[in-house]
Amino acid sequence: MQQCPNCKEYVPAEYVVCVWCGFDLTSEIIKRSGIKISWIDALRRMARVVYQPFSSLREIILLPDNKGPILILYFLSFLVTLQINIFVWKIRYDVQSNIARMIAVIMLAVYPLFLLFLLVVALRIGTRFGIVVIRLLGGKSEKDSLQALFGYSLIPIAIGEGIASFFRLFYSKQEITSISYSTISSYFENISKNGLSIFIDLIRLTTWIWSAILFSYGLKREARISTVEAILVTAVLWFAFISAMF
Ligand SMILES: [Zn+2]
Repeated sequence: MQQCPNCKEYVPAEYVVCVWCGFDLTSEIIKRSGIKISWIDALRRMARVVYQPFSSLREIILLPDNKGPILILYFLSFLVTLQINIFVWKIRYDVQSNIARMIAVIMLAVYPLFLLFLLVVALRIGTRFGIVVIRLLGGKSEKDSLQALFGYSLIPIAIGEGIASFFRLFYSKQEITSISYSTISSYFENISKNGLSIFIDLIRLTTWIWSAILFSYGLKREARISTVEAILVTAVLWFAFISAMF
């Protein structure tokens, strides 16, 4: 027998739906089967979110993992560091000097780990906050599924930041001398005042919307709430996550 997590009644172990309340027991059965997602599986999932977004998100909700989200958040941390690094490097130091190279390498090795820590904390707080909001709307969500969904739906943003980093390599010194990069938030504010930046920000905006669509879709299925409610929760969570980041 298995216990239904929704109504706490007992039903035979092989049942995929609760006979008492109609709750979908598939994820419980998958959990008991002991399937583990490896780092390679997580990478494959990341790729599938790009070319088969909807079916892969359904799979991620049913069998959540935290390896994928950690890889994605590390990638994001690395790209943000790289972008700041490009600025610092171009303005402050002579690219030819060994000291500048050394500083760049040390910063790229250490700083992303610090950012990763902050982002993982933000993801966890965001997930807990999300569960509270979903309950207020009468929906139901599991911590692991919501966290995995949150992490994997950030892939488009990671792609956007990757493209942005690439283009920033071609910034001229004149374009960047007026930019403040003292804090991450002022860096993002000031960056939109530049010519090439407007194009980069357009790409970035597109990827943010793409991520929000993925998350709303997954949320609608995971929390069993309406499309409008899913969009609302996405907006609240996105805002909370960004505020926590900066
Ligand atoms: Zn039930």
